[in-house]
Amino acid sequence: MTDSADLTATRLERPVGICPRCRAVARSYDQIGKKCASPQPSGAKCPGVVRGALASDEWYECPSCDATGRIDAGICGACGGAGWIYVRHWRGTAERVR
Ligand SMILES: [Zn+2]
Ligand SMILES: [Zn+2]
Repeated sequence: MTDSADLTATRLERPVGICPRCRAVARSYDQIGKKCASPQPSGAKCPGVVRGALASDEWYECPSCDATGRIDAGICGACGGAGWIYVRHWRGTAERVR
């Protein structure tokens, strides 16, 4: 609402896990191995299971928002507001996790 209230946006911490389904990031170790359950555009909850992504080389800071997750007053579209982007290609996307 107000102009330039937040010029020094906080840099987000590197996530510790990611959902292979919807790519939601997890910042808590507690979330690893659990259902993602992020709300999806369809209204359903994501059935994916969060997997750990603890290595620093698995992530890079989003160059669009400089790891803040925000651009101006909005959410950064490049990283979806996570501030970090998962670098690895998905291996075993056909792998079924139950
Ligand atoms: Zn998910
Ligand atoms: Zn970004």
